Amino acid sequence: MAKKAARAAKRSATPARPAARKSTPARKAAPRKAAAPARKSAARAASSGKADKYVYSWGAGKADGNGSMKPLLGGKGANLAEMARIGLPVPAGFTISTEVCTYYYANKRTYPAALDAQIRTGIAKIEKVMGVKFGDARKFPLLVAVRSGARDSMPGMMDTILNLGLNDETVIALERATNNPRFAWDCYRRFIQMYGDVVLGVQKRAGEDHEPFETVLEHYKHETYGNGELEDNKLTADDLKNIIARFKALVKERTGKAFPTDPWKQLEGAVSAVFGSWMNDRAIVYRRKYNIPAEWGTAVNVQAMVFGNTGEESGSGVAFTRDPATGEKVFYGEFLLNAQGEDVVAGVRTPEPVAQLAAEMPKAYKELERIRKVLESHFKDMQDFEFTIQDGTVYMLQTRNGKRTGVAAVRIATEMVKERLIDWKTAVMRVPADQLDQVLAPIFDRVAVKKAEVIARGLPAGPGAASGEVYFNADRAVEAAAKGKKVLLVRVETSPEDLRGMIAAEGILTARGGVSSHAALVARQMGKVCVCGAAALQVDYHKRTLTVNGVTYKEGDWLSIDGTAGEVYAGHIETGASEVIQGLVENDAESKKGRTFKNFVQLMKWCGEATRMSVRTNADTPEQVRNALAFGAVGIGLTRTEHMFFEGDRIDAMREMILADTLAAREEALAKLLPYQREDFFGIFKELKGYPATIRFLDPPLHEFLPNTDDQQKDLARKLGISVEKIKQRVHDLHEFNPMLGFRGCRLGISYPEITAMQARAVFEAAADANKKGYKAHPEIMIPLVGFKKELDLQVEIVHEVARKVQAERKTTIKYSVGTMIEVPRGAVTADEIAQTAEFFSFGTNDLTQTTLGMSRDDSGSFLPHYEETEIVKKNPFATIDQSGVGALMRIAVEKGRQARPGIKPGIRGEHGGEPDSVKFCDALGLDYVSCSPFRVPVARLAAAQAALAAAKK
Ligand code: ADP
Ligand code: MG
Ligand code: MG
Repeated sequence: MAKKAARAAKRSATPARPAARKSTPARKAAPRKAAAPARKSAARAASSGKADKYVYSWGAGKADGNGSMKPLLGGKGANLAEMARIGLPVPAGFTISTEVCTYYYANKRTYPAALDAQIRTGIAKIEKVMGVKFGDARKFPLLVAVRSGARDSMPGMMDTILNLGLNDETVIALERATNNPRFAWDCYRRFIQMYGDVVLGVQKRAGEDHEPFETVLEHYKHETYGNGELEDNKLTADDLKNIIARFKALVKERTGKAFPTDPWKQLEGAVSAVFGSWMNDRAIVYRRKYNIPAEWGTAVNVQAMVFGNTGEESGSGVAFTRDPATGEKVFYGEFLLNAQGEDVVAGVRTPEPVAQLAAEMPKAYKELERIRKVLESHFKDMQDFEFTIQDGTVYMLQTRNGKRTGVAAVRIATEMVKERLIDWKTAVMRVPADQLDQVLAPIFDRVAVKKAEVIARGLPAGPGAASGEVYFNADRAVEAAAKGKKVLLVRVETSPEDLRGMIAAEGILTARGGVSSHAALVARQMGKVCVCGAAALQVDYHKRTLTVNGVTYKEGDWLSIDGTAGEVYAGHIETGASEVIQGLVENDAESKKGRTFKNFVQLMKWCGEATRMSVRTNADTPEQVRNALAFGAVGIGLTRTEHMFFEGDRIDAMREMILADTLAAREEALAKLLPYQREDFFGIFKELKGYPATIRFLDPPLHEFLPNTDDQQKDLARKLGISVEKIKQRVHDLHEFNPMLGFRGCRLGISYPEITAMQARAVFEAAADANKKGYKAHPEIMIPLVGFKKELDLQVEIVHEVARKVQAERKTTIKYSVGTMIEVPRGAVTADEIAQTAEFFSFGTNDLTQTTLGMSRDDSGSFLPHYEETEIVKKNPFATIDQSGVGALMRIAVEKGRQARPGIKPGIRGEHGGEPDSVKFCDALGLDYVSCSPFRVPVARLAAAQAALAAAKK
């Protein structure tokens, strides 16, 4: 397989990253400022003529830079300096700062005058530390790697160039110095290929399927060995010499020039290629998508080479200080013997788990274990690092905070507190709120899984359990999922083209690939259940079959995977609630002993300590209330009373009410509904244990309750003893052109006060019943869709009157309040008037978004996706609050509301109440609480806690 393709796959896994980014807006905003001084100092250098520092060296335990200098040195450079400082074995090198990149683009792609000399000094320092000379044609020559490095690793940037400094003379010197011809010529072959590709642009042309260098290589292998797929490490020195000659000819043919031989010229070309790549299309597209300012620029790292391709005592690898899928504190990663650079992720050969090094190279393994500990105790976070072993000696080439699943994030954060590596506040900040629901993901039913047969094992790459029909191709998987099937996407390996299928699938299963494979990366970032590298699977795309141990499964057959354990099962296995849900909601004793459960509970406890806002829930039934309270909700933010009208034959009474011609007939029908509502409210008050319940009165347009089809209408006519014509007439009368803006919300109660009166009576009678039984009821009655103070006045009057009556009848007092939902712009801008009557208000941001944007959510599907693509809207405003539009109205309403009624406690409910960015925005607005669906409560609590901690830091 072409390495290039694998690299591309690795890269394009990254767009799944916004999840991680989204949750750390601070990170995005803060460094942006730092770009300004960078520009200034570059300009200063140009004008004053005084040489600024552009090159930052490290080596032999010292460094000019350090880990906090990411804006200036890029992420890779800053951490290389930091690792050198703390005495880790990092090959010497230097970083050319991001200021140079800024200068380069501000000055027509030229460099500051002082740069050249500083680079030469930088090389001289490397030479001194390493004891070798750049371009030395007699002794072991200094070879360097030229590596790009933005603040955050950024796909789309230039690929790394290794072994720079080789030419026809230095390669001989290298061969002689090492007495290892295969090694020397292998380096040279790699160098020409990489440099030819990324610097000289010898790449695939339009219409070509393969990289030209790969094509030459494959042809040679085919001609010589009759096998185009032969592994690279089987090639002899003579083979490599022949291939190099062909490579050079290819370069000459494509570029019209000979391959550059002067190491300094090579270096110049490579540095320019890195800076040039900052403005290539791929990089620009990526930056635009993730809001990375172009001013940041990239740094360039030039570093002495160490060699993983000298033989069987060498190799290269990538590793994590803990398991990034489960969070377990184990050394995790993979390693490829006798390999260089990205061979390990390119899929040319199958890497082995690092643990195996314990047996193969015990000394090197011990050193890696030591490094692993040093990294964590120094960086205080799980690290994702790259290393090379040259003849048994370990060298560190990169480290950064590792990406992890939501499950791993929770485990790592809580365990690191126990290990005293971090404090609890840091732990709360470390778990991305939008990934927390991964710990709530289903697991296999304990009993069912015991009976199931494990047919293969692979790497546990995405925690959770999934069961589905297998599909071997992304398109067919998408199709099947669209038909409502549960799908498992099974591939030999995945690539970016499979992304759609991966999203549609319940889980992903691959036969090949390790921790750094595309499937593993995507699963980690999307929170998909995934098992990868299950080597026993033989997938035949052509026949659309999968064979394991002699048993063949066809497309559409059921398999199940456990992404926490890395196991593949035959057939369908029932999935059940996660340990956390079983423990909290179902009060299951066994689950409460589990690690995930304990970690989760601990995290939520910390959230409770940190938070300013409280979290309520949207709930219409006692069961939902119970679930939400188990997750830590402190009341109901929204009960939608209309949901109560749809159950059983209640709908008939409702319809009778709608069809009634006279007040008396309507009241008669409403009287039938009253006991149902009262019972429902009682159930909710009972479950709430004294927490408040905001109850919204009837909101949807009445036609939603009437039947539409002929049959249903006939049926209803028979039941109610009226004519079908009458029903048809009423449906016709109630028909609206824009129901969203029509006869709904408080407009119903204004026209039919008896509906409001009945609902109020149901609430108060239920409250009286509850109080009598010792469940303290605390209803907050909410009148929807208010735009005029008078609307609210009229409704509130009815409520108070009913309250008086019920309290007198029952000889009791009920603690209640009446307020409104701010969900139309007029309500927001006149919140001061409305708050004179309203004792509380909360934002209904679904409707407020619809009415502010003049955009119907239900109809937005036809144009909104395009709006997101073209970035007219940055995010779907129905998922994340449109802060500058809708948010501005909210701010006005909060201010005006507090003016009129100082103690008013505004909240928010609806989809936005459980979405982390919106929750953080609400905290900034000073809202008192957010309300969301029961299963989003933990996410909202975490986001609220993070917002409070971030605000306290400022
Ligand atoms: P990326 O940003 O894509 O990870 P890197 O600059 O980290 O690119 O380089 C990719 C790989 O190249 C590294 O993982 C390492 O294996 C190899 N590499 C980079 N620098 C050196 C070096 N100085 N010596 C040997 N190998 C190197
Ligand atoms: Mg790297
Ligand atoms: Mg509404």
